[in-house]
Amino acid sequence: MTGLSDSFQRPIDYLRISVTDRCNLRCIYCMPLSGVSLMPHDSVLTYEEIYAIAQAAAELGINKVRLTGGEPLVRSRLAKLIKMLAHIDAIDDISLTTNGTLLGRYAAELKSAGLRRVNVSLDTLKQGKFEFITRRDNNLGDVLKGIEVARTVGLNPVKINMVVMAGINDDELLDFATKTIDEEWHVRFIELMPSAGASTTASQFVPVSDMRKRLELSGELEPCLPGVGNGPAKYFRFPHATGTIGFITPVSEHFCFSCNRLRLTSNGKLRLCLLAEDEIDMKQPLRSGISSAELKQLIEEAVARKPLRHHLAEGYMPKDRPFSQVGG
Ligand code: SAM
Repeated sequence: MTGLSDSFQRPIDYLRISVTDRCNLRCIYCMPLSGVSLMPHDSVLTYEEIYAIAQAAAELGINKVRLTGGEPLVRSRLAKLIKMLAHIDAIDDISLTTNGTLLGRYAAELKSAGLRRVNVSLDTLKQGKFEFITRRDNNLGDVLKGIEVARTVGLNPVKINMVVMAGINDDELLDFATKTIDEEWHVRFIELMPSAGASTTASQFVPVSDMRKRLELSGELEPCLPGVGNGPAKYFRFPHATGTIGFITPVSEHFCFSCNRLRLTSNGKLRLCLLAEDEIDMKQPLRSGISSAELKQLIEEAVARKPLRHHLAEGYMPKDRPFSQVGG
């Protein structure tokens, strides 16, 4: 194995796989209230097809996989896919991004299948606001329980991702940060991105520089190293805190120069950047009986087309798919 790198010499070793475009929530920053027109079942990759792509990608140098969606836990028998991926020798890290509503139910099974760790999206600690942001009457308590169960079964570190929105949940920055003092909470504050179909607006954007200033009024933030994973967050902690605080700046300070990822959509397109529309279809060639060598060639072609950076700062935003269909 020689390792994959793109035309800008960035090593590409990470594949995010969206296993479904379906979601049981309708978060205001992610999906329209009416939902999105769902892909017909037969256009969604089977687990065998996902496995074939992951296997080919692993032979080229991918060694980390993250499952996402839509909401990955609404796809039936996800543990089966995890077990299949765990059998690929070169893949040494399988993780999951979830809204946490079903995590308590599945965490133990996912762990035994080979899942290593989990990120949970959670934007508020208040039930009423949870219903407002997710536009569903699910119980926030289920998400909090899911986080606890995930930790207990060893899906650590559990990272908690909060999309910060002015006037909606930015008043809870300190509440989330305070949780890191005594508990193993690894919170990451994410800048709101514009997204196709979202109900949020630019006026709700809060730059990380503001978030940091507000938290620093309550205590010094010491830089620290990430626990596991090598994503784009910059990590800090309050002195002597058990957990950590991360900041992710897709808008105010892009991190494209260290981008190491490819994305596979649930209908089988290799997407080269979350924020650019270019995609390469893998499903049709797979269903036409492509060889594993040809599959690898397609992946290499996709990697060669990876753009240098996204252009959010210049006002460009892809209109083709909401993040629920790309796997944000
Ligand atoms: N359903 C899963 C979940 O809730 O984590 C996985 C899919 S969701 C699209 C993945 C991530 O995308 C979430 O962590 C969410 O924070 C992020 N996301 C979606 N829309 C976003 C936006 N407009 N700005 C910033 N992050 C966004």
